[in-house]
Amino acid sequence: MKKIAVVGCGAYMDSGYGCPGEWRCLKAAAMGDGKIDEPSTVTAFVKCECPGRAVVPTIGMSMKMAEIKPDVIHLSSCMVGAKPGCPYASAEEMAQIIEEKTGIKVIMGTHDYH
Ligand code: SF4
Repeated sequence: MKKIAVVGCGAYMDSGYGCPGEWRCLKAAAMGDGKIDEPSTVTAFVKCECPGRAVVPTIGMSMKMAEIKPDVIHLSSCMVGAKPGCPYASAEEMAQIIEEKTGIKVIMGTHDYH
């Protein structure tokens, strides 16, 4: 089964309502819905923390601790579609940095649920 890591916006997660990691990303992974193109195992769920500088090392640590390298990394839909957006980096910039540093393809978004 395809292995994916999900990166969510910690500032949004901490706001509670409709939090990433509550069920949407996980259901999309289980069902192969939205931007997750086939049923997939979530091998890491990484919480970005402002100002976002630790996200790459945290992804690296998650892979090291799990001893699993995901096939792709998804930025969560709430991170990609955030309004107002992240004040530190656009989702595109974040994706580019993660891709360059990890060598793993980054996909913009996870689910289409509301
Ligand atoms: S740096 Fe941006 S994406 Fe990361 S937690 Fe803060 S607001 Fe969210």
